[in-house]
Amino acid sequence: MLTGTQVAFIGGDARTLEIIQRLTELDATVTLIGFDNLKQTFSGATHAELTEEAFADVDAVLLPVVGTDDEGKIDGVFTSKELRLTDACLARLPKHAKVYAGMAKPYLKSLCAKHDIALVELLERDDVAIYNSIPTAEGAVLLAIQHTDITIHGSTVVVVGFGRTGMTLARTFQGLGAKVLVGVRKDDHFARAFEMGFQPFHTAQLQQHVGAADILFNTVPSLIVTSKVIAAMQPRAIIIDLASKPGGTDFRFAERRGVKALLAPGLPGIVAPKTAGRIIASVVSQLIMEDSAKRGNGV
Ligand code: NAP
Repeated sequence: MLTGTQVAFIGGDARTLEIIQRLTELDATVTLIGFDNLKQTFSGATHAELTEEAFADVDAVLLPVVGTDDEGKIDGVFTSKELRLTDACLARLPKHAKVYAGMAKPYLKSLCAKHDIALVELLERDDVAIYNSIPTAEGAVLLAIQHTDITIHGSTVVVVGFGRTGMTLARTFQGLGAKVLVGVRKDDHFARAFEMGFQPFHTAQLQQHVGAADILFNTVPSLIVTSKVIAAMQPRAIIIDLASKPGGTDFRFAERRGVKALLAPGLPGIVAPKTAGRIIASVVSQLIMEDSAKRGNGV
């Protein structure tokens, strides 16, 4: 339980509601900042304005998946007020407090470092990334269906990158009856992809393996689907780039060449916000409970 643990939520979206639900069930003392337009109520949660005082006794600060932007602005779909995490806010946080976000831009990283406050980037964790790969793959299936006029079954799918997302994607499309080629850069990944029944190749040879692709999914967060790769694709093929912005595709060249290419960030939050929220809720509640137990709180 989280009895006696103070948690402040600042901004967020439908995913955040799942985390609030979980932490209130665990009896945390929850303060909601930037939820003034929210109709739903949570027993035990109170609303507050974003002031420095609101940070005074807080053990954990929960930010939305993107954390803050480069100026400290926090997105909140349940408020029309501007939310900004300032230097003065962090200065009021107790030193044992932790800031949780899906990911952190340099602004948030340097603010936490300056005040010696621990920052937890939840999407960096293997467990969160692997659980998240499930709604991501389902979103990828949705996009593939929406943007092609052929069945996935019998199609040729190239998955570039064989990490936490790439592996789930490859298996999902294989399960739907596609012929799946997987681009890897490590020999052990090559062997694993072979063992799993995919057709592996080294990403250095990407250009030589895209000719038959109906759909190419990229999960490598750096420019890898270059103009040369795109030029080797069939014009009717589609590129769905899942890597974090700006993706790993030369979108300008794809457009010039007439190959449809789309960047598709944030699929878990779009196709399955409840599940995406529960994934984060389950991990974050565990982490806060561990910290709380170390401080001798909770029962
Ligand atoms: P990951 O586990 O680190 O996998 C990335 C893969 O890319 C690894 O196989 C890595 O190879 C490979 N790679 C990295 N740089 C490369 C390069 N220069 N050349 C060749 N291969 C390279 O990451 P992940 O969790 O799968 O996430 C992948 C991307 O998808 C990230 O940008 C993430 O933010 C994004 N993502 C998007 C969504 C969405 O909804 N669109 C959802 C989840 C994640 P090694 O193993 O050899 O390092």
